[in-house]
Amino acid sequence: MSRSSPSLDTLFTWIRTESPTSDRAGVNLMMDLVVAQMQDAPVAVERIPGTDGLGDVLMLRAGPQTSEPGILVMSHLDTVHPVGTIEHDLPMRVEGDRLYGPGIYDMKGGAWFCLEAFKDVARRGTAARPITFLVTPDEEIGSPITRPMIEELGRRSAYALVTEPARDGGQIVTARKGVGRFDVHVEGRPAHAGSRHKDGRNAIYEAARQILAIEAMTDYARGITTTVGMVSGGTAMNTIPQHCRFPVDLRVETVADGESVTAAILGLKPQNPDFKITITGGMNRPPYERNEATSKLFDHAKSLAAEIGFDLVSAPRVGGGSDGNFTAALGIPTLDGLGIDGDGAHTLQEYGLISSIAPRQRLMTRLLETLR
Ligand SMILES: [Zn+2]
Repeated sequence: MSRSSPSLDTLFTWIRTESPTSDRAGVNLMMDLVVAQMQDAPVAVERIPGTDGLGDVLMLRAGPQTSEPGILVMSHLDTVHPVGTIEHDLPMRVEGDRLYGPGIYDMKGGAWFCLEAFKDVARRGTAARPITFLVTPDEEIGSPITRPMIEELGRRSAYALVTEPARDGGQIVTARKGVGRFDVHVEGRPAHAGSRHKDGRNAIYEAARQILAIEAMTDYARGITTTVGMVSGGTAMNTIPQHCRFPVDLRVETVADGESVTAAILGLKPQNPDFKITITGGMNRPPYERNEATSKLFDHAKSLAAEIGFDLVSAPRVGGGSDGNFTAALGIPTLDGLGIDGDGAHTLQEYGLISSIAPRQRLMTRLLETLR
């Protein structure tokens, strides 16, 4: 695929259309582009209005009109990059084989060429099973509005394919950690830092002790990590703070660990009864554990890749969650990381490898044609 091919121009337009999850208008412009892409193909397009201030959802259907369990393909078109990133911090540009731009790697590149593959298969009438391609607006915040749709479609599917980016060197994903999210609010007692210090109960001080306890739950040997990545509290330098809040990110490898660490976090008590602690949250995405059916699906994809001319390798279990966690948890054989190769997800060094598009588009095409 040459750099100036008309189809890559379409991808450039996708990158220029900035679409952070919170920007409903931007995300909906992306959905418009997908609808336009499917226009002259035998694809049934269902557009479901977004709720909670989020963008719309697209359900695209093609393939045989039978009631047998189908193939579910999932892409998200929201990104983590605020509008304006492309102007200054991450300008779209091609450097050798690298295409830089917000969301190119996670996951507009993969979404775009997998939709192309889907459209081609629909046009040729070569789908092995009914195909539903779900295009979502909310993956980067944990899929609050699309999770029920994903699970509902997943239950009726024989396979789930996810177009999240490939890992180092084009590896695909057959296992992901589960993800939990919590919010902790510590309340103390405010006081003047000079004249009434003894009366105060410093919420930041208590929060610091809780954070030490939470960080201590990390256990690398079991693949458990806890992270407090942000803290906010206090109102003035000379005031003993009444409030402190912080979120907790939890990653686990097994359902059992998810349950036990969740219970430990929700069960945290103030170390001094003068403080009040309120904790909300829980597991957001269950762990995606590789099982026999997924291994079989991977072996099939590997043989297709060999026919195309590349070696498909499965990455070691990855820490990031995706919508594949939801289908895998239902026992649906799930392959993830089928998107573009590259690096720098969620950073200002994000790029996709142009040379990875053609072979991986071919792989998606062949999967849709052969997954019996
Ligand atoms: Zn993603």
